[in-house]
Amino acid sequence: MPLRSRLFLPVIATTPKGASVDSHKILLRGGYAMQTAAGMFAMLPLGKRVLDKICSLVSKELDGSEILNAQQAAMPSLVPAELWKKTERWESAGSELFRIADRKKREFCLGATHEEVFTDIVASAVRSHRDLPLFLYQIGQKYRDEARPRYGLMRGREFIMKDAYSFHVDDDDFASTYEEVNAVYSRIFDALGFDYVRVEADGGDIGDGHSHEFHVLSNLGEDTLVHCDKGNYSANVEIAAKRNGDACTAPGCSCGGSGTLIERKGIEVGHIFHLGQKYSAALGATFQSSDGARVPVTMGCYGIGITRILAAAIEAGCESGGCDAFAWPASIAPYSVLLLPSKSAAPLLRDVYERLPSNVSTSVVFEDRTDVSRKKQAAEIPLVGYPVVVTCREEGAFTISDRAAGAEWTVSSAEECASFLEKNILEHENKQE
Ligand code: ATP
Ligand code: MG
Repeated sequence: MPLRSRLFLPVIATTPKGASVDSHKILLRGGYAMQTAAGMFAMLPLGKRVLDKICSLVSKELDGSEILNAQQAAMPSLVPAELWKKTERWESAGSELFRIADRKKREFCLGATHEEVFTDIVASAVRSHRDLPLFLYQIGQKYRDEARPRYGLMRGREFIMKDAYSFHVDDDDFASTYEEVNAVYSRIFDALGFDYVRVEADGGDIGDGHSHEFHVLSNLGEDTLVHCDKGNYSANVEIAAKRNGDACTAPGCSCGGSGTLIERKGIEVGHIFHLGQKYSAALGATFQSSDGARVPVTMGCYGIGITRILAAAIEAGCESGGCDAFAWPASIAPYSVLLLPSKSAAPLLRDVYERLPSNVSTSVVFEDRTDVSRKKQAAEIPLVGYPVVVTCREEGAFTISDRAAGAEWTVSSAEECASFLEKNILEHENKQE
């Protein structure tokens, strides 16, 4: 049972220096993470629990798609320079790439993204069109020496990404996977309760054109999006300008007949690309077609910023209800329930705890500290972001409050309270185990 007194949760009462945005402040104040260098963070147990939940949500949705047949792998962070030289990214990546040499002066980079590594594996393992399509992914660290690491986990120099790569015989086959990834991403961002949009995006230097980004709408967003108020056209302004040439792409311009473009700010949490044959041709990832010729495989790649989602969820929560009332979306809360007794009621709530099955009670914290004031105990609630708090003042009066929904229920016995929590609040814990 997580007893509050035994949790490593170094909560800070005041706002730490250097944290300019809400998510960064909460991460430091709540004891989720500590900064070790610019853009690098040690994740403490509380933050690690959220990250693990985001990872399991993402992989559950990917693995659950029968169309994708997604399979998880894990690549080393150190990537041989030769691979990046073959695709000419060793030069083009410039100073964003962390470069390292081993004792024999062999060059490596710390993986900023892993197209080369996955494509190289496919080059050596895939022979025939019968081996395709193939959808591989991993969840792991990425390293980018960002010019301006900032906003805490939002833009780090070491961060966690889910990166997926798909391999196909042709563009038609790729297109059905691309469409399915769109659907899977929507399920993921729905489960996170995000207010998000999918926009046409600039492929940057990874892709060869066709790409979409998923943005959480937030005033803090570093990207500017334009959206047509009539119809469903949305784009990152970077591409809107490129696409439309001299046409008007600024907010206020007309669009879709009678519509007007409006501007919104977004935090990019996902990005999907059509890569074509750029990497497969450079790295020799080919298959034998029916007429015997060797053809480079057609590829797609699909990223989700795991650590950025953690920060974006806090920003979204703070923007909608204020940081003082912050509660995690139930799907990724580090702990789902706080049992917060008044002194005399402690045994009653402990009774509730003991009635919960052990596979769900790991997500329930019991406030057992008698040397900490009630005020301090309460001040911690929006920092840990418990979705649900249970209090009990006297025999027969248990109050269960859903902090996000603002709903409250009263039950009269420990038994009733435990079964309510198990059925209504902790059911998803069961599914995750
Ligand atoms: P950005 O435009 O924000 O710099 P990007 O387009 O370079 O991101 P991608 O290469 O598309 O990023 O990476 C996939 C996902 O990884 C992004 O959608 C984002 O959520 C996340 N991500 C990218 N860079 C960072 C970073 N420095 N810190 C945290 N997450 C990041
Ligand atoms: Mg991107």
